[in-house]
Amino acid sequence: MTGVVVGLGSSLGVCADAVRAAVDRALDGRCDVAAFATVDRRRDEPGLLAVVQEWGATLQCYPAEALDAVEVPHPSDAVRGHVGTGSVAEAAALLAAREHGGGNLVVPKLRGEHVTVAVVELVPLTISTACTACGACLLTCPEHALRPAPGRPVVVPSRCTSCGECVEVCPTDAITLFSL
Ligand code: SF4
Ligand code: SF4
Repeated sequence: MTGVVVGLGSSLGVCADAVRAAVDRALDGRCDVAAFATVDRRRDEPGLLAVVQEWGATLQCYPAEALDAVEVPHPSDAVRGHVGTGSVAEAAALLAAREHGGGNLVVPKLRGEHVTVAVVELVPLTISTACTACGACLLTCPEHALRPAPGRPVVVPSRCTSCGECVEVCPTDAITLFSL
């Protein structure tokens, strides 16, 4: 199964109920959270930590400068003025996802009460330039999770069950499977 990383931005003193409500709204029933992520200066924020602990997950924290270097769809000059980065929730989720192999922003910045949440869906596998476009993985995948694309196939994360059959069949060892 693929998973998600949840990015969190918040004001000082945000209450856990507000964080929980925003996270639940952003996840919309998903429960495969690999990690939460935020900016360094919120690493000890009780409202965030309470929800992260309820999920039994880790909170990955990053310096504002590292977050500001991440390209996001909704940067804010006002946020940059306060925190030193134009994005916290989206940038933290994308940056943390890189540690799990990368991912796609599926829930852009969603505002709650003194909290913002963004969700990145992790990519379960990558296909390298060693791919010769032979098509064997497309025919093998039992979930039809691989689709033809220019150059090499692409994976549909929500369909992939990480069974590994495509890895086994690939004649050029072009596929790397990530595990959560
Ligand atoms: S064959 Fe590959 S793409 Fe298809 S479900 Fe298994 S791991 Fe995912
Ligand atoms: S089996 Fe390997 S070489 Fe063939 S299309 Fe899939 S990734 Fe490319």
